[in-house]
Amino acid sequence: MTAPLLDAVGTTRARRPAFGVAGDAVARLLSGPDARSGPESYESHLARLGPPGHHGRRPDELRALVRDSGVLGRGGGEFPIARKLDLAATTLGTPVVVVNASEGEPASRKDAVLVGLRPHLVLDGAEAVASAVGADEILVYVHRERTAMCRSLERALLERRISDLDAVPARLVDGPDRYVAGEASAVVRFLSGGPAAPRRSALTPAASGVRNRPTVLSNAETYAHVALAARFGAQWFAEAGSPGCPGSTLVTLAGDVAVPGTVVEVVGPTTFSDALEACGGLVRPPQAVLVGGYEGSWLGGSVAWSAPLDRHALGHSGVRLGCGLVAVLAEERCGIAETARIVRWLAGETAGQCGPCALGLPAIASLLGALADGRARRSDVREIHRLAASVRGRGACGHPTGVSEVVESALDTFSEELHRHVRGRACHASGAGLPLPLAAAEGSRR
Ligand code: SF4
Repeated sequence: MTAPLLDAVGTTRARRPAFGVAGDAVARLLSGPDARSGPESYESHLARLGPPGHHGRRPDELRALVRDSGVLGRGGGEFPIARKLDLAATTLGTPVVVVNASEGEPASRKDAVLVGLRPHLVLDGAEAVASAVGADEILVYVHRERTAMCRSLERALLERRISDLDAVPARLVDGPDRYVAGEASAVVRFLSGGPAAPRRSALTPAASGVRNRPTVLSNAETYAHVALAARFGAQWFAEAGSPGCPGSTLVTLAGDVAVPGTVVEVVGPTTFSDALEACGGLVRPPQAVLVGGYEGSWLGGSVAWSAPLDRHALGHSGVRLGCGLVAVLAEERCGIAETARIVRWLAGETAGQCGPCALGLPAIASLLGALADGRARRSDVREIHRLAASVRGRGACGHPTGVSEVVESALDTFSEELHRHVRGRACHASGAGLPLPLAAAEGSRR
């Protein structure tokens, strides 16, 4: 039996971040001053955690430590960061470290909360990685529209420049606020002076990234985990999470939850239901949960409710926790209509440079829209399946595949609803509310 405990909940009003902890009594990334205190100062950060773990360590020692800790990327790819370090360190050229703090997933707030409250933890991790690979520069990729995040980082960088003159130079780089602009190859391209659009390449950024230099690029949360592993060791690090994915994990709760946008740090074994209940609970019974982002998977409410909230365990069931989004859909909502809205939005977020995005995604969005409106026939459903299969694995990035996955999982999870729509019967949904923060995202980004 799991026993989620809550040791910190930030206030939920006045745009202050709300966060909690599930599965254990002690937070890791989010431990320290509560949300009302705002970004933690460098002085407080050092007083609380002690000196950064990379100080006084050789690069090979650091790489071994990161390898032993088993830190996986927390941006969606779940790739072992140690492999990026090893490749960047052994490739010709001076490496560069890139912290991807762009958080392009509209409903996700975990990086905003982490960077907004614990900027020095993220920057410590970036410096540890820079030391491990011999990088001479740290670039922090952000969206200027995320003002709280940028202010927190600017202040943190200034504090570090004043008190740590030997630190690797770090600076913010403002990227466009588009969904695919945060994709790894798009970030590399933009930081190299090109457009923030993905590009297929035979080489990973660690081998040839920003201006063809070896580049360690990972999500902000990943660096914060590296900072903790470097400070407290691989054994301590593995005491949280699971053997398949050591360390805690940040997730964002969205949709029909008591406090949409709450960020939860999952430290120990817990289920979706325990994490949701620990952080305010639900507003209504859940029909389904969208896991991993807008290009994630829908899980039926009863399945999701008892499922372990663990990257590795979910991965075994073919579900990726990805960016850590957990969006709840209440019983009276229509999953087909919500998916249609999501796909319409995603179809408008492409770089428009590959066939599957230029032709396939708009066609899928249009058919899903017709289905949601009760105007589609059974043959249209077959066509949606065919189109979803045809865009999968194509294009210069994973965007078409991600859309295909969310579409297929919706048709499967909401099969009952699907039949109603095809028969032209009234959908049981109230149709009034917007359970996912898509409308807000559209308003703020388009
Ligand atoms: S697959 Fe789509 S999103 Fe990815 S690069 Fe091509 S057009 Fe852009």
